[in-house]
Amino acid sequence: MVMNMKVWENNIRRVKPYVPGEQPKDQSIIKLNTNENPYPPAPGVAKVLNNMDVDKLKLYPDPTMGILVDEIADFYNVDSNQVFVGVGSDDVLAMSFLTFFNSDKPILFPDITYSFYPVWCDLYRIPYENPALDNNFRIVKEDYYKDNGGVLIANPNAPTSIYEDLDFIEDIIKHNPDSVVIIDEAYIDFAGDSAIKLIPKYENLLVIQTFSKSRSMAGMRIGYAIGSPKLIKALNDVKYSFNSYTLNLASILSGYESVKDKDYFERGIKKIIATRKRAEETFTELGFSFLESGTNFLFVTHEDLNAKKLYEELRENNIYVRYFDMPRIDNYLRITMGTDDEMDILFDFLKRYLDKI
Ligand SMILES: *Cc1c(COP(=O)(O)O)cnc(C)c1O
Repeated sequence: MVMNMKVWENNIRRVKPYVPGEQPKDQSIIKLNTNENPYPPAPGVAKVLNNMDVDKLKLYPDPTMGILVDEIADFYNVDSNQVFVGVGSDDVLAMSFLTFFNSDKPILFPDITYSFYPVWCDLYRIPYENPALDNNFRIVKEDYYKDNGGVLIANPNAPTSIYEDLDFIEDIIKHNPDSVVIIDEAYIDFAGDSAIKLIPKYENLLVIQTFSKSRSMAGMRIGYAIGSPKLIKALNDVKYSFNSYTLNLASILSGYESVKDKDYFERGIKKIIATRKRAEETFTELGFSFLESGTNFLFVTHEDLNAKKLYEELRENNIYVRYFDMPRIDNYLRITMGTDDEMDILFDFLKRYLDKI
């Protein structure tokens, strides 16, 4: 026991927490650091919040989140008993770790991926192993063909931005009939086919998505999982053992409005993808290279530039991007697609910066 430590302190659960990206108060900052969407949520969201009957807050919200669950089920053409909703996909992921990863065998996820995964493993004391991405930052699918306590793949992966097609994902699922396989699709709407298509074939597949990126609702905290009724029942049983009322009334109502407006959703995605295309061209002109992106961000590097220094210079000039001080990716920056005007300010700065060196 460490000196001066009280006995009760010995019984505190000690964890190394996840460090979220910065949320500066200054509105003039160009915020390209946490992969939020620069455009507002669907207009129906403003309407429902502005007209909310505050008297309803006296009561608990619907613990089943019925109208939202049904609307998501309808959107993806699945049954309502195949949908689980939580407070952002972070909550859905945390609940899934608790529900599905209870083996003595290690769960598997890549060495470079969403950095929250190892934090949950430590919190819940789940053993894990991290197969390395290859030299091109691609997942090596064969690394997931061995005995394990569960498999977790972010597709597209973060912060690499790379999307693997459904055949690739299906190969991993096919080789893991004895584990729950979770595909974290936070960015799928900017990429291609979702693994939701594979759910009728694989009872052990859980797909997790979020309203935070493609639906411009990071502040509302809504995420969901889609899978077989068996997986969803297990998740709900754990949820009801933990906190029956996760989403508040405003989230349930505004989430419903967002999903209902398909047209706005599709137009919003097209806008971000167009900005990404434009940004790819400009980054290339400026001598940057980047990984092929299926997301609303680009993972960029420049042979002549020190990424950490550039990150700091950008910061001093009120442009926030994300830097990871980690082996293999410490000369890269993860840059969220903002509005075209915001991207122009970034590129003007980069042009001047490159002229100076
Ligand atoms: C943003 C993100 C999440 C979390 O999203 P929330 O729904 O806001 O909690 C989960 N996984 C990945 C890979 C992400 O990028």
